[in-house]
Amino acid sequence: MQNEGFYDFHTHTVFSDGGMIPAGLMQRAIVRGCLGLAITDHVDSSNLEWAFENLLKFVEELGQEWQPDIVPGGDVTTAPLNTLDSDALAKNWHLPVIPGVELTSVPPRKIGVLAEKARSLGAKWIVVHGETIMEPVAPGTNRAAIEARADLLSHPGLITPEDAARAAELGVYLEITTHKGHGMANGWVAQRARESGAKLLLNTDCHVSTEILDAKQRRAIAFGAGLTAEEVDRIWENGRRIIARIFG
Ligand SMILES: [Zn+2]
Ligand SMILES: [Zn+2]
Repeated sequence: MQNEGFYDFHTHTVFSDGGMIPAGLMQRAIVRGCLGLAITDHVDSSNLEWAFENLLKFVEELGQEWQPDIVPGGDVTTAPLNTLDSDALAKNWHLPVIPGVELTSVPPRKIGVLAEKARSLGAKWIVVHGETIMEPVAPGTNRAAIEARADLLSHPGLITPEDAARAAELGVYLEITTHKGHGMANGWVAQRARESGAKLLLNTDCHVSTEILDAKQRRAIAFGAGLTAEEVDRIWENGRRIIARIFG
């Protein structure tokens, strides 16, 4: 059995439309077996500083409390799933948390500028809310996100083969999502990624605690998108590499 360690690179808190504060999100993610998290609240030019600077306070405090001997490679990362209980949580409440943002409903021609601004504030992970089939999103958002070299294009809907190829070229990750609505295009995204060589991540886009899924549920949704076991393992490996790059 492959290592079931997984990561989540798209999550929300009360700093946009989520229901959890960062500490609550982190602790619930630990209990589900998550090994690393990016917190990526919805932002546009009106709330970027406010949301991101609030998140930074949490991340900075976490950094001061950091215990490198347990993350990654300690008890949490090696414990079998479902054996993590409140004792484990009490002992290992740390998780690598990447401060990020999700640029949402930003006009495509402004995406590059706002992504740069977020990076200058200290964002280590830029997500752009892609052209999901479940919401009206400006056409051209996918392409603008890719050209802006976002780290992740979330739920890109019916992404074109050309955009998927460009994402592969520029190293922008495409997303398979466990989100109930946005996930309806997962099969399409998986196929475009396979054809183009674009790399995938699987994320929850969670807003409330019940949406933080465990590894078994995540794997099932990936299979539902038509991914093979090897392709799912590659997604987990992509996550490990990102964490190593940012925290290494
Ligand atoms: Zn949201
Ligand atoms: Zn989101």
